[in-house]
Amino acid sequence: MAINTQEQQSQAGIHQEVGHKSLLQTDDLYQYILETSVYPREPEPMKELRELTAKHPWNLMTTSADEGQFLNLLLKLINAKNTMEIGVYTGYSLLATALALPRDGKILAMDINRENYELGLPVIQKAGVAHKIEFKESPAMPVLDELLQDEKNHGSYDFIFVDADKDNYLNYHKRLIELVKVGGLIGYDNTLWNGSVVAPADAPLRKYVRYYRDFVMELNKALAVDPRIEICMLPVGDGITLCRRLK
Ligand code: SAM
Ligand code: CA
Repeated sequence: MAINTQEQQSQAGIHQEVGHKSLLQTDDLYQYILETSVYPREPEPMKELRELTAKHPWNLMTTSADEGQFLNLLLKLINAKNTMEIGVYTGYSLLATALALPRDGKILAMDINRENYELGLPVIQKAGVAHKIEFKESPAMPVLDELLQDEKNHGSYDFIFVDADKDNYLNYHKRLIELVKVGGLIGYDNTLWNGSVVAPADAPLRKYVRYYRDFVMELNKALAVDPRIEICMLPVGDGITLCRRLK
């Protein structure tokens, strides 16, 4: 799409600012999705958690409502029961997951920051799904290494959502591929990284966007040639790559 008028250019600027929420052609189109299909169907607790998180200074990190809806439906489609989440923040994707699982479903959730999890926890408790969550305040890597030591955890997860430190995704992948069951899914989030994966080398990117970009691109290349999985990269949210374990 050619951008000619000043108004269109400034709109494109705004669009880039919210890029992690919308990689679509226009923000109007994204708003249309939210207002037509997402917000009217958003469960009340998710709305409450989204609004609570919007007031937090790091709210840019939260999973978008359309991605939350996608995860919720996906988990129901695959009948997920035993799941894991790396990177919780205030818990929007965690709540989307918890609401999708059966009563005896489980989520092993980990984050280095408990405070933010506890901000959203009352909403999760009110929604009646907190009993499904085991939260570990820890970097993910030692937790994964510990899980791997017990053979019974191998191939035991139906779904794993990875939404944390992008410079470790490939290290996580080495471990998660053993922990997810054959036919199960790993979802790597932010694989289009604010659209920066196609930015020219000299593009003026924010420091953290530039730093993590190379790791995201390296992950994308590695996943594309990994024979143990089949993949699908979806332009939902900031890009999510679904990996289904084959063997
Ligand atoms: N999924 C969350 C949501 O729906 O709101 C968003 C997660 S946010 C993008 C990334 C989170 O990863 C932060 O809360 C951060 O504390 C956490 N994190 C960063 N490094 C980590 C690590 N090594 N292990 C576990 N969590 C980590
Ligand atoms: Ca994310």
